[in-house]
Amino acid sequence: MQKYVGAHVSASGGVQNAPLNAHRIGAKAFALFLKNQRQWKAKPYDEDTIAAFKDNLKQVDILPEHVLPHDSYLINLAHPDPEAHEKSLNAFIDEMTRAEQLGLKLLNFHPGSHLNKISKEDGLKRIAESINEALDLTEGVIAVIENTAGQGTNLGYRFEHLATIIDHVDDKTRVGVCIDTCHTFVAGYDLRTPEACHQTFAEFDEIVGFKYLQGVHLNDAKPDLGARLDRHESLGKGKLGWEVFRYIMNDDRFNGIPMVLETIDSTLWPDEIRALYALAGKTS
Ligand SMILES: [Zn+2]
Ligand SMILES: [Zn+2]
Repeated sequence: MQKYVGAHVSASGGVQNAPLNAHRIGAKAFALFLKNQRQWKAKPYDEDTIAAFKDNLKQVDILPEHVLPHDSYLINLAHPDPEAHEKSLNAFIDEMTRAEQLGLKLLNFHPGSHLNKISKEDGLKRIAESINEALDLTEGVIAVIENTAGQGTNLGYRFEHLATIIDHVDDKTRVGVCIDTCHTFVAGYDLRTPEACHQTFAEFDEIVGFKYLQGVHLNDAKPDLGARLDRHESLGKGKLGWEVFRYIMNDDRFNGIPMVLETIDSTLWPDEIRALYALAGKTS
């Protein structure tokens, strides 16, 4: 099996519970928050937590490279204010460190917002410089930039934004991207037909490059094409429909990386995972 599909599972009670929660829904990959995503600070992991996480991961037969941790929503690496930026950068370094401690290879994050105080270009450079600092202080973890819906002043909704950030990162072996299907669509890239998928992913390949693709978020979208609103929907129930998921499950460029659901009804995840695997080998 070359496709690794799962969901963003709960880590409540401790990160060591996430692999078990993933296994319970039939996931071969998963995402999790490394700490409470709505708070700045959390106590460091103790050794028991780290050991239990690694044991549970092994027990459910999921590889560290198929885990895609997501950082806190509070972090803004483009923050124009020096003090606020420092706070975000420190929190980001803490998240990278936590991923490293758990033996993981990836940390997925939203690039940041310019807050109408600096230009997009300056915001993107600020993000890249932050990544450089975090990479210097950690080892082995790849910083995985997620493309965004482009809501408000969020950067990262154009493939060019991702390319500009990567351009300014010194160590290209430790920077990657995560494509969110909902965000891509609401940012204005069509994915509703095989032809549209072909076109959009060709554009992604040309501007960013599939070699940087380290993960996928599998979400249908409530808003319309180009609405620039971040509202996920269960698979097949939104404006995207099933075609993009059929396309991804049958395209080798998506092999070997974690692909996780962030759809709104977690009770549907086992069915959604089964449905995705059933699409592999079935081209329309
Ligand atoms: Zn996402
Ligand atoms: Zn989203």
